[in-house]
Amino acid sequence: MDKRVYNFSAGPSVLPEEVLIEASKEMLNYKGCGMSVMEMSHRSKEFMGINSQAEQLLRELMDIPDNYKVLFLQGGASTQFAMVPLNLFTNSKKADFIDSGAWSAKAIKEAKKYGTANVLASSKESTYSYIPKVAPENFSKDADYFHITTNNTIYGTRFTPDNIPDTGDVPLVADMSSNILSEVYDVSKFGLIYAGAQKNMGPAGVTVVIIREDLMGHAMDIAPTMLDYKIHADSDSLYNTPPCFSIYVCSLVFKWLKDKGGVAAMEKINREKAHILYDFLDNSTMFRGTVAAEDRSLMNIPFVTGNDELDAAFIKEATTKGFVNLKGHRSVGGMRASIYNAMPVEGVKALVALMGEFETKHR
Ligand SMILES: *Cc1c(COP(=O)(O)O)cnc(C)c1O
Repeated sequence: MDKRVYNFSAGPSVLPEEVLIEASKEMLNYKGCGMSVMEMSHRSKEFMGINSQAEQLLRELMDIPDNYKVLFLQGGASTQFAMVPLNLFTNSKKADFIDSGAWSAKAIKEAKKYGTANVLASSKESTYSYIPKVAPENFSKDADYFHITTNNTIYGTRFTPDNIPDTGDVPLVADMSSNILSEVYDVSKFGLIYAGAQKNMGPAGVTVVIIREDLMGHAMDIAPTMLDYKIHADSDSLYNTPPCFSIYVCSLVFKWLKDKGGVAAMEKINREKAHILYDFLDNSTMFRGTVAAEDRSLMNIPFVTGNDELDAAFIKEATTKGFVNLKGHRSVGGMRASIYNAMPVEGVKALVALMGEFETKHR
């Protein structure tokens, strides 16, 4: 390839070209300080500026209320599966879960090490092809928290912002790794939101945590210092060396998103992109989507032909034409197009055109 491809990877995933250009311009000499961001002290004035700018931009983009802290941590979303119970199991040591995918299942497995993980409902028996609905009277009144995965990266389902569980006084915790900043969620409805950066924010290495202040400072005695939210909050995420370069690239992505009009403007584009692909799938006689229509993700769109050989032929042809990483997760098969914020509308239009040609040729 002598040019950039259309990259449909589920993560790490496509970044805005403007951001990559800016990062490359500043690579050798960040704003006249004579070194790259990778080489500077995390206590330097330059890096402290990057760190607070990243936080400020994220606060603006998500309209994060003042009584929430924003943390830049390490260990990926997978570390949050343990960090959440270690900090939030304060009374009943019980949490409610909706098992809507493999990542939810991992969060459940981890929470069980520290208390009770009460699974209210699961769609596992149908390869997680829908979001299970649970009546509020079945929620545990005494749960320390209620956990959902807002977007199921592997299966392509999501809790729409107007359909998240109303958990009352029980803090709602969300793994937003694959759809943070893709559409407008009301942060005040959540006690804690976490997301690995490498899907929709930046390079791997940093995990964003947005936590309501009253949920900090009650970590279990066994919680390692590094897994105590309060420790990180008290030092503005600079308790130890942070993933400096990842945070820097995230700040460029946040700036890019703000220049595009913010999350509401991006949501409009994401809806358009998803509509183009779903509309094609709904009308195709060869390709079809795999999940319940009302739960469809805007970010990850799995689809199949129903014939393994045709799937493989399509993936092969797409790859040679510069549409890469379309192979579906092994548990679903077929294809998956991840169309995060940085995937332009043209990329989705070109993909649909390719699918149309393929369909005509193989009819
Ligand atoms: C990718 C992903 C994870 C795992 O993230 P890591 O940063 O690799 O730990 C967890 N949850 C969801 C929803 C994901 O998409």
